Amino acid sequence: MKIVVTATGTDLEAKIDPRFGRCPYFLFVDTDTMDFEAVENSSVTLGGGAGIQSAQFVAEKGAKAILTGNCGPNAYQTLTAAGIQVIIGANGSVREAVEKFKSGGFAATSQPNVQGHFGTSGQPFSGQTGVGFGTGMGRGRGMGRGMGMGRGMGAMSPTGGMPTSLSKEEELAMLRDESRAMEEEKNRLMERIRQLETGKVKQVIARIDQQKCNGCEACLPVCPPQVIQMEGQKAVVKDGCTACGQCVDVCPTGAITMS
Ligand code: SF4
Ligand code: SF4
Repeated sequence: MKIVVTATGTDLEAKIDPRFGRCPYFLFVDTDTMDFEAVENSSVTLGGGAGIQSAQFVAEKGAKAILTGNCGPNAYQTLTAAGIQVIIGANGSVREAVEKFKSGGFAATSQPNVQGHFGTSGQPFSGQTGVGFGTGMGRGRGMGRGMGMGRGMGAMSPTGGMPTSLSKEEELAMLRDESRAMEEEKNRLMERIRQLETGKVKQVIARIDQQKCNGCEACLPVCPPQVIQMEGQKAVVKDGCTACGQCVDVCPTGAITMS
């Protein structure tokens, strides 16, 4: 069965991106073989309609189910009209989510769980009680051009959709994933701004602050291409970093950043 997972990276160890329409990558996974295809989401920068366009795209690719964090009403309608199961509340790595799906650990939702534009100006889905928070900003300029962006997220009530089944730990994990995804998107935007301003392309990789590194070696085993090595009592990143970000998650001192 072919399913699709919203992801922050291009392999099975990438984290789930909780946003459907604006996730950086879609990972199409064959649940029988675990073969996968990573496709960059071309809807990330759309001013509007990202959810619908993404839904049409994954339907055209033949996915039978989608695993994501949140899904707005337009995307939900498009996905379900195409016969695609919508599973929300997924977190952790793509591999973990797919394994949970295979073992029957998810149930398809019967409704969207956020309003449209989640990830750009989100609110909890109307009709649900719960908490929501968000900020937004907009910018416009002459000659009819303008753009805006904002962020928001919502947690649903005990009577609502996905969060009904979330434990405190699961909600914490989901919120941490969302926070990390937002931070990564901000870094991508800042890097693109820098590229446009300077005309220079800089490769984003993991960098280790030698002052903060305590030599615990926790980052070594999580690095897929094994490019982190110890030099004396400090960890260093050698050539070949794929910017997967997994070392950032495990470092207890915050010594590793992506830049
Ligand atoms: S996990 Fe952090 S503190 Fe530990 S060795 Fe790696 S960079 Fe240093
Ligand atoms: S150094 Fe960190 S970001 Fe780079 S490939 Fe290894 S785990 Fe991923």
